[in-house]
Amino acid sequence: MLRLENIHKSFGDTEGLCGIDLTIDSHEVLALIGASGSGKSTLLRTINLLEQVDDGQIWLRGVDISDPAVKPDAVRARIGAVFQSYNLFPHLSVLDNVTLSSRHVHRMPAAEAEAHGMELLERVGLAAQAKSFPDRLSGGQQQRVAIVRAIAAKPELLLLDEITSALDPELVTEVLDLVRSLAADGTTIVMATHEMAFARDVADTVVFLDHGVIAESGSPAEVFGKPRETRTREFLARFL
Ligand code: ATP
Ligand code: MG
Repeated sequence: MLRLENIHKSFGDTEGLCGIDLTIDSHEVLALIGASGSGKSTLLRTINLLEQVDDGQIWLRGVDISDPAVKPDAVRARIGAVFQSYNLFPHLSVLDNVTLSSRHVHRMPAAEAEAHGMELLERVGLAAQAKSFPDRLSGGQQQRVAIVRAIAAKPELLLLDEITSALDPELVTEVLDLVRSLAADGTTIVMATHEMAFARDVADTVVFLDHGVIAESGSPAEVFGKPRETRTREFLARFL
């Protein structure tokens, strides 16, 4: 459903991405791993057009969304994204955060958007907080709301960028459990993560980025179990 072809992205003299080729099928969960600065966030940001590529194409269901004529908002309506620091709107209640894009981007009637939003909040155990404002919630709860908000508008693809790295360790599990259940439901997910055990457990494909190139990719068993490349082995050794 998503195909990246020869993606290049530089920031001045810094090469963020140098020739990325990647395919993601529907219902696939793809984990991006790699050292800080290897290009994980840049790759995710190019997919939902927060970065414009210097070269290459991004095909979403057969349409080249890297074409400058494509409207970023139209693409972002189809791709949900959650980043490291939960960016909930502080002046909106939890439920209003969750229903915002269904109501405004997808023009769902308010009652329907709220019923759907409450259903999702119930599913993640946050229905009681629907009327609360984000600052009343723990980091883990806020991040779960951010995920619910990203999936409320039924995106075709979900991008997750280090969504647990700003959380206290005891809050990480509740967020990862939610991602695990979305994966089990067949959500197509591309996630940058430092949670190797989680990637090993949940991902269908693991892609190891090194200095803006894909150094190695394969199933978790291949990449974690018998990495072919020395640099993959060296990277993974840091997590043991
Ligand atoms: P981390 O694990 O720390 O989040 P990352 O793998 O997400 O790292 P990126 O943020 O994608 O790495 O950065 C890739 C490279 O591109 C780095 O060298 C970074 O300094 C550079 N870079 C990213 N965004 C910008 C920007 N807006 N301006 C300049 N350089 C940038
Ligand atoms: Mg990053």
